[in-house]
Amino acid sequence: MLSAPGKLIIDLAAIQGNWRRLSEKLPSATQCGAVVKANAYGLGVAHVAPALAAAGCKTFFVSSLTEGIELRKLISRDAIIYVLHGFELGNESEFYAYQLRPVLFSMALIEQWMKWIEQAEKFVPAAIKVNTGMNRFGVELDEFMQFAAIATQFMQNSTVLILSHLACAEERQNPLNAEQLSQFEQVKALALKVNSKLSFSLANSSGIFLGQNWHYDLVRPGAALYGVNPTPESTNPMSAVVSLNLKVLQVRQLKKGECIGYGHCYQAPKDMPVAIAGGGYADGIARVLSNQTQGFFNAKPVPLIGRVSMDAVAFDLSAVAQQQEQVNFIELIGEHQCVDSLAKNAGTIGYEILTQLGQRYEREYRVSKS
Ligand SMILES: *Cc1c(COP(=O)(O)O)cnc(C)c1O
Repeated sequence: MLSAPGKLIIDLAAIQGNWRRLSEKLPSATQCGAVVKANAYGLGVAHVAPALAAAGCKTFFVSSLTEGIELRKLISRDAIIYVLHGFELGNESEFYAYQLRPVLFSMALIEQWMKWIEQAEKFVPAAIKVNTGMNRFGVELDEFMQFAAIATQFMQNSTVLILSHLACAEERQNPLNAEQLSQFEQVKALALKVNSKLSFSLANSSGIFLGQNWHYDLVRPGAALYGVNPTPESTNPMSAVVSLNLKVLQVRQLKKGECIGYGHCYQAPKDMPVAIAGGGYADGIARVLSNQTQGFFNAKPVPLIGRVSMDAVAFDLSAVAQQQEQVNFIELIGEHQCVDSLAKNAGTIGYEILTQLGQRYEREYRVSKS
């Protein structure tokens, strides 16, 4: 693998399988989309999006215009692409050129978009995001009432989708889920009076698992496609997608009482063989993992010891002392340690682990063996 700090394997067949599994959970009238923002959660949109399209996905969500343009070049013109962060004044025509649909999250954006459509005499369908309790983006229900004339005109002519986002969907019992649902129901009732052809979308990955009431016409999973557990309170229903093996650069012997790495923050309680492996915080192995996680060799845990450096980490090989000569890779993410458990050790969530995975690894994309 030449000089890469490790090997990152991304299983495209597993992503496709996860998308199909989610699709199968849905009522037949509900479509399963895919969120591929942030370079498909760090996994490589150029590989992931075409794989999802091949599995049958027709609707994609990205964050920005730049991501939308990149995605449009990767998939066919028929695929629908929504841009979650809407448009900015001056870049409207790019949405038309690349057939991207802006998600409009304020009355001001809606008015600006309407103005542009009228002036340019071009039609690009748009989505409206409404706030039902996340309080991040979105038009408020009472703003719809206040700007009823504009809202009505826009929903009649230019809107195809109304969406909202759940704030606590991964906590099944959180009362906010039902509150957001009931808010969204009100929005839906209001919107349908204006235009009966509108579609609705509420659920992210975890929202899908809250049940059919949350499904509406279109669901928007991201994390679950990439193997992150959408139901953290129970076992992961999704297949693992990512594995990361760090390359061992040196095996050395640490004597009892010796310390290792920056800050000498680990002292050997006994003589031990130690592996120095490639990969560090520059590759997304968070520095807070210093002394806080483990790797695996031959299914045996090998604790990560001392500070995570920019480009290197150390592992205590005591558990595999007999085989220390053969230790050339250490599994950091894989069969024995999933993305979610590594995230837990780092005090974060799987989403952050995935999106931080570095660019220096050798990347292998697995496709289904058919
Ligand atoms: C990121 C995002 C999603 C996907 O969420 P996951 O939890 O990764 O499934 C869905 N909808 C919106 C609006 C988002 O920003």
